[in-house]
Amino acid sequence: MTGVFKPGDEVPKSGIYKVTHGAGHAEEHEVTCLKGEQFPVCTGCGHHARFVLVRSAHHVRSHEYFRK
Ligand SMILES: [Zn+2]
Repeated sequence: MTGVFKPGDEVPKSGIYKVTHGAGHAEEHEVTCLKGEQFPVCTGCGHHARFVLVRSAHHVRSHEYFRK
């Protein structure tokens, strides 16, 4: 458990992740990922993308006050 995730890994917590790409084909940037989904393969660098959690946040529909 290093805190660095690869495409195909299960997202452990919903929130904002920093993405870095392989071979410098894109600047690092942030994305939102949802718990239980898989981190996706990048269309530019395939499995070289890496995801690091910046800030976790419940998806609103999974929060106890907004769950149906
Ligand atoms: Zn990429």
